[in-house]
Amino acid sequence: MLAATGPLGLTGLSGSAPGVSVTGYTLGGGIGWFSRKDGLASDSVRAIDIVDAGGEPRRVTPESDPELFWALRGGDGDFAVVTALELDLFPAPVLYGGRVIWPEPRTREVYDAFLEITAEAPRELSVWINRLQPPGTSPMVTLDLAYLGEAAQAEDLLARIDKIGGAIVDSRGVIPVADG
Ligand SMILES: Cc1cc2nc3c(=O)[nH]c(=O)nc-3n(C[C@H](O)[C@H](O)[C@H](O)COP(=O)(O)OP(=O)(O)OC[C@H]3O[C@@H](n4cnc5c(N)ncnc54)[C@H](O)[C@@H]3O)c2cc1C
Repeated sequence: MLAATGPLGLTGLSGSAPGVSVTGYTLGGGIGWFSRKDGLASDSVRAIDIVDAGGEPRRVTPESDPELFWALRGGDGDFAVVTALELDLFPAPVLYGGRVIWPEPRTREVYDAFLEITAEAPRELSVWINRLQPPGTSPMVTLDLAYLGEAAQAEDLLARIDKIGGAIVDSRGVIPVADG
């Protein structure tokens, strides 16, 4: 979907993993890099084509069936088989982001930086903290970052990260929205 909307300067409210289906993500609510600014993916749904429990195809909108429309947007696949979604699109921003990874002994410092950055973060900035230990590796702490705006502003907002030191991966940079 994003490959088609990108050349028009538009984007949908995507999640963090390209392997997740648009439908499954949206039916589950859908929280991603755009959510702090533009809302959940499920909030961008205009209409839903379904096959209902009786095997009948139907188009569900807030006007045609408000309760089913509400339940589908967050209730996963419990209420109908979804065959199409009609979604709002949004102007595609410049997207700055990436992942920074430190060895586990840096966790205290990374948490402190995370708390400081997120206490004042504008709606355009999302920061996720994770502890990772892929099989056969030592534990690590990561910050996943996305800023819906220019790189220079993002670098200012994230300057606190540079004081930590010891990062083993730092992929921060401008990225195409379709790759976000
Ligand atoms: C690597 C990874 C990263 C993720 N990142 C995020 C994230 O950033 N933000 C976030 O909000 N979530 C995230 N998730 C969670 C993800 O959105 C949910 O697990 C989602 O339900 C997966 O949907 P799927 O269709 O790909 O999977 P499936 O397992 O195929 O489906 C999941 C559910 O959706 C239902 N469903 C799927 N398609 C239909 C359909 N056409 N009609 C009716 N029901 C249907 C299924 O019945 C099932 O209950 C992530 C998951 C993974 C694995």
